[in-house]
Amino acid sequence: MKIDFLEVSAYRIPVKKPVATSFGVMRDRPAVFVKLVADDGSFGWGEIFANWPAAGAEHRARLLVMDIADILFEIDGETPESFWQELDAKTRIRAVQCGEIGPFDQVIAGLDTAINDIAARKAGLPMAKYLNGENARRSVPVYASGIAAYAADEEVARARAEGIRNFKLKVGFDTDSDLATLGRISTGLLEGERLFTDANQAWDVTQAADFLAKAEAFGLGWIEEPIPARSKLEDWKILASKTEIPIAAGENMVGDTVFDEAIASGVFSYLQPDVAKWGGISRCYATARKTLDAGRIYCPHFLGGGIGLIASAHLLAATGGDGLLEVDINPNQLRDAFLDGEMVNGEWQLPETPGLGIEQLPEEISEFQTLTLSRTRN
Ligand SMILES: [Mg+2]
Repeated sequence: MKIDFLEVSAYRIPVKKPVATSFGVMRDRPAVFVKLVADDGSFGWGEIFANWPAAGAEHRARLLVMDIADILFEIDGETPESFWQELDAKTRIRAVQCGEIGPFDQVIAGLDTAINDIAARKAGLPMAKYLNGENARRSVPVYASGIAAYAADEEVARARAEGIRNFKLKVGFDTDSDLATLGRISTGLLEGERLFTDANQAWDVTQAADFLAKAEAFGLGWIEEPIPARSKLEDWKILASKTEIPIAAGENMVGDTVFDEAIASGVFSYLQPDVAKWGGISRCYATARKTLDAGRIYCPHFLGGGIGLIASAHLLAATGGDGLLEVDINPNQLRDAFLDGEMVNGEWQLPETPGLGIEQLPEEISEFQTLTLSRTRN
């Protein structure tokens, strides 16, 4: 199979309430969606990570068209995985030379998702079944993500009203106020509900250990990225030895070696690769399988538009295990416009439509387009 045509679009939706994490604030919600058309006319959709930096969405669209499209068009791939391997190998030097390994990884991840979408559509199977046949689940449980501490009470109540029983609060701001909020929310949990936290790399090992000692009584399901994601494994091990709270990470891990070492280290109870940041469906599914084989839990990380969220749901359904699907509770039309009643009582129902089930981009997001570029194979 060869790819004959690609079209990539960047979007931005201004937000009324900026989304705050411990390392910065998102003042709009961006997304980058890519459509690929194969030489037999079949097509597929992918999403490329674009939350950061602030100007990243349009840059990634241009990177795809100006630096990667020609390499993509040269590949005659037998499987989605073979496209990923060739794209990865043939862009490495350039990515290193310009210091942009992340953006290249993210663009290739989006292309991989689109190529897998093409393959699943051709097989006439929904993505989860294309990946794992009848073992794929029909639904997966979700957790409400992106809950800011300052709005935790109302956001948890809103998620609960939608039937969600798992909530993740952002911490890493003011310690006393973070702990007070966690204490209050954990006390108010109903039976069967769980509370998780994400520090977004806010602390060093000592600060993290101090915080977690004080949070021990709250019964937290996990602490996500308590220390910088690229800390030495030795530091992660020291922290893990000081707390009973399970540790989660993976959205900022890149490459098979890094994931293999993280899985083997025993530090991480939960591994969270992001389908739009590295590896696409091909490598994230392989990583998810390795995670399960090692007795760990795979939880896809995702905080973007609709295509990546749908891909994440299929990945989790294909993988199985005790993982939860991350669903951002902040308003975002670039996500919601793709959905059609998938979430029922806190469970994400996987549709039976082939591939990711996306025929075209929803009309209602077109007004938020900031850039559309296309290329045809010569
Ligand atoms: Mg996170």
